[in-house]
Amino acid sequence: MTAASALRRFPTIKPAGRGVVLSSLHPAYRSGRTMFPSRVFDPDEVERILKDGHQSRKIGKTVQKGRLKDAPIFTLTLEERATCERSCSAWGICYGNGMQAAERIVAGAALEAALWDELAALQAAHPRGFLVRLHVLGDFYSLTYVALWMRALAAFPALHVFGFTARTDAIGEAVRELADANWDRFAIRVSGREDPRRASVIRDAGAIGVVCPAQTGATDCCATCALCWQSDISITFRRH
Ligand code: SF4
Repeated sequence: MTAASALRRFPTIKPAGRGVVLSSLHPAYRSGRTMFPSRVFDPDEVERILKDGHQSRKIGKTVQKGRLKDAPIFTLTLEERATCERSCSAWGICYGNGMQAAERIVAGAALEAALWDELAALQAAHPRGFLVRLHVLGDFYSLTYVALWMRALAAFPALHVFGFTARTDAIGEAVRELADANWDRFAIRVSGREDPRRASVIRDAGAIGVVCPAQTGATDCCATCALCWQSDISITFRRH
């Protein structure tokens, strides 16, 4: 385990090659929900839906290098499986199985209204740039939600986004189109795609592109790495 730092409150847990694997008979697997339904909140039950990156084990508070240096980082966490495509290869081994403490926000119109208000406030507070990590858990859940991000990129010029999608359906296609047209501001990689660019994979051994430097100990956290939004090289993650 790597120690906590000034950039993040919690230490990194190094991958051990195994995670919490759900049986296909588990209710969460079958119903497509989190294992921790008491950790799912409506937007009006939480102070903010976009959390400070400092609260995340792996993200960090403020970008330390590159073109977004000094930009604050925020994260959005949705409910794993409930917002995901059933075909996701990580359905049973989702990181969320080991993240009991995470606050998951209920997807839908209330989330989208709150998100817009918070993005507007961040634009006003950080006009030189801010970065949002989508999604710590969960995925793009509708075409309406993807369209919101498209409108947000136009409305909030300081907004930058990085993250991953495992969607292969029409929603995933819309995300890929948005990313391809706006990679410098909307760096969303396709999880599980065997491609050297703009993808991410989970591998116990070997790699496509670069192994996430936070997992190898080469960097402290995303804030000190910046690879995901500075580059379009694919990222390999080791299984937790
Ligand atoms: S490659 Fe870098 S920016 Fe991307 S997830 Fe790993 S530490 Fe974060």
